[in-house]
Amino acid sequence: MRLASVGQIAAGIAHEVRNPLTAVKGFLQLLQEQAPHNYIDIAQQELDNAISTLQNLLNVSKPDAEDEPVTRFSLCAELESLLSLFQDQIYRVTIEKSFEQPEVEISGRKNQLKRAFFNILKNSFEAISGKGTIRISHSCDNNTVYVSISDTGVGIPREKLMLLGTPFFTTKSEGTGMGLTYVYSTVYQHGGSIRVESEEGQGTTFLLEFPLNVPVDKGVVVMDLQYEQGIQ
Ligand code: ADP
Ligand code: MG
Repeated sequence: MRLASVGQIAAGIAHEVRNPLTAVKGFLQLLQEQAPHNYIDIAQQELDNAISTLQNLLNVSKPDAEDEPVTRFSLCAELESLLSLFQDQIYRVTIEKSFEQPEVEISGRKNQLKRAFFNILKNSFEAISGKGTIRISHSCDNNTVYVSISDTGVGIPREKLMLLGTPFFTTKSEGTGMGLTYVYSTVYQHGGSIRVESEEGQGTTFLLEFPLNVPVDKGVVVMDLQYEQGIQ
């Protein structure tokens, strides 16, 4: 189960928000004695960190917050436009695309899904140190759209696979551990499912499935959630 319990989230908030706020408090105390400008900058930076952590949490726990309408759109077109955001990486990472029937449309909240795919892609690029390849494929049958994103990156150790999507689980020094939490939450909101296959040193594949015709009741319904963990 990857959607966190309230307790896990609360613990995460306490940890992530307490540190920057403590730092702000400390710098404000120093300000009373002397006021070099960089103290104020640092305090503001830490407050920004706290605010963005809370914003991430709010987005994950309440993805409807933006109240985005449900529309029909081509996932392929959106994936294409996301890839352009990684232009600065193509000197080292080769992108291989295989888009079947790109005109097929799914229904959903476009920006939320785009953000989810952005998070998956960003992780793939970050997993590749030096040169590598990211393969993106899209196919569908009568009922389902399949998207696969695989990279030739570092891979994920077997014991860590189960932690993917847990809030604040990160192995990166600058990571937030919120990216996949958002991904899982958004995909399930769209009635979809995710499977992850990975081999250390070889790479990782995210396999996503979305129903083509989500029964529209306020747009998106949370369907029977399917939690799968592919382990090779
Ligand atoms: P962050 O990227 O901030 O660390 P995420 O929630 O996006 O947080 O990812 C959580 C962790 O999952 C990462 O720190 C990394 O260890 C692992 N991970 C996610 N995607 C991949 C990938 N494609 N290859 C290797 N590890 C990954
Ligand atoms: Mg990430």
